[in-house]
Amino acid sequence: MSTDTTRPPSLLDLDDHALEQNVAELGSPSYRAGQIRRAVYRRFALDFAEMTDLPQALRTQLSQRLRVGPAAVVGQQTSGDGSTTKLLLRLDDGELIETVLMRYDPFGKRRPRQTVCVSTQAGCAMGCTFCATGAQGFRRQLSAGEILLQVLTIARIAAGEAVADSDSLADESAAAADGSAGPSGLTNVVFMGMGEPLANYEATSAALTRLSDPEAFAMSPRRITVSTVGLVPGMRRLAADHPQVNLAISLHASDEALRNALVPVPSASLAAIVATAREHVRRTGRRVSLEYVLLAGINDAPSQASDLARLLRGLNGHVNLIPINPSPGVVGARPSRSAVLQFQAALETGGISTTVRVEKGRDIAAACGQLRGDRAPAAKAGS
Ligand code: SAH
Ligand code: SF4
Repeated sequence: MSTDTTRPPSLLDLDDHALEQNVAELGSPSYRAGQIRRAVYRRFALDFAEMTDLPQALRTQLSQRLRVGPAAVVGQQTSGDGSTTKLLLRLDDGELIETVLMRYDPFGKRRPRQTVCVSTQAGCAMGCTFCATGAQGFRRQLSAGEILLQVLTIARIAAGEAVADSDSLADESAAAADGSAGPSGLTNVVFMGMGEPLANYEATSAALTRLSDPEAFAMSPRRITVSTVGLVPGMRRLAADHPQVNLAISLHASDEALRNALVPVPSASLAAIVATAREHVRRTGRRVSLEYVLLAGINDAPSQASDLARLLRGLNGHVNLIPINPSPGVVGARPSRSAVLQFQAALETGGISTTVRVEKGRDIAAACGQLRGDRAPAAKAGS
C-alpha cells in the first residue's frame, strides 16, 4: 500500500484560529473563514472546488496549502434490510478504518434516528478477548480531522445529495438551532467504532468540540456518546471538558477476576470504574450507560446479573446488554434468547434498568465488535 506523505495538512485538523490565520495569510477577509466552515460542516463540501461561494482564486490558493478530504472509500456495504451502511476508508498512510451509518425506525411512530458510529484509532491496544478490533492490535491514533472526516463522509451520504445548494443555508441554521437533525439528517454520533476513544483523548476531545460547535457541525452534545472500556483519567477529563456528552462504559463482568480475563487492562479495575461512574453522575447530573457483552457460559448466569445489580446499586445508570456478535478470531458464543431474557430479568429484579441492544448490520460485519478494517469478501468498491 502506498504511503502519501506529500499531501497538505487537513483543514479538519485546524482550530478556528489557525483557519483564520490561513485566510489572513492569503489576503482574504476574515468572514471567508466562516464561509469555509459552513461549506464544510453544513454542506459537507470535502473539496475546495465545491465551495462555489468563494472566489476561484481563493479556492485555488487554499487547495495549494490545505485539503479537506475526501475520504478514500474503498468499500461500501449495506445490510440486507437497508438499515446499516458500512464504509471502509483508507487513510493517507494506507491504514484502513470502518465507519457505520445506522438508520432506526424509519417507518415507526418515533422520529427516525440516523446514527453514525466513528472509529477513533486504527486497531485497538486494549485486547478485549471478544472484540475483532482488539484481536487486530493497535495500529495508530486517528487525528481529530480523521474522526470528523468520517462523520462528514457519512453526512454526505445521509443528506442524499452531493452538496446542498447554498440557498438553503437559512433552513440549515434553523434546523441546527432547535437541536434537531441538521441538514444531513444525522441525529446522533457514537464513538463506538474501532479503538478506545479515551486512549486518544486529545483527538477525541477536539472532534467533540467541533461536532457540538454551533458554528461548525452544530450537533447537540446530548446526542453524542463516547464509549470507553473504562479509562479512569480519561473519564474524569471528559466529565470536565464535555459534561453534556453521554458516557457509555463497557463493563462486561461483575467481578474483578472475570473482568481482567475479558478486558486485560490492569489499570481499569471494576471498583475504580464504578466509583468514577458515580462521580460522573454527580458532576454532570447525567445518567451513564453501562455496556455488557453477553458471552454464553462466561458472564451470562443470572447470579452474575444479581452481582452486577449489587455493584451498580444506587447508580443512575442504564445497562445495555449486547449478545456477542461473532467474528473470526474472537472468543465467545451468543447466549440463547432465553438466557438473555433471564439475565435481563435478574438485573431488573435488582433494580437496574436494561435494554437488549437492537441488532444492526450483522450480515455485513458492521455490528459492535465486528469492525476490523479489512476488506470483507463481499465488499464492493464504492465511492
Ligand atoms: N473501545 C470502546 C468503544 C469501541 S467498542 C469500548 O470498548 O467501549 C464499542 C462497543 O462494542 C463496546 O461496548 C464493546 O464492548 C462492544 N463489543 C466489542 N466486541 C463485541 C462483540 N464481539 N460483540 C458485541 N459487542 C462487542
Ligand atoms: Fe478496544 Fe473497545 Fe474492542 Fe475492547 S471492545 S478491544 S476497548 S475497541
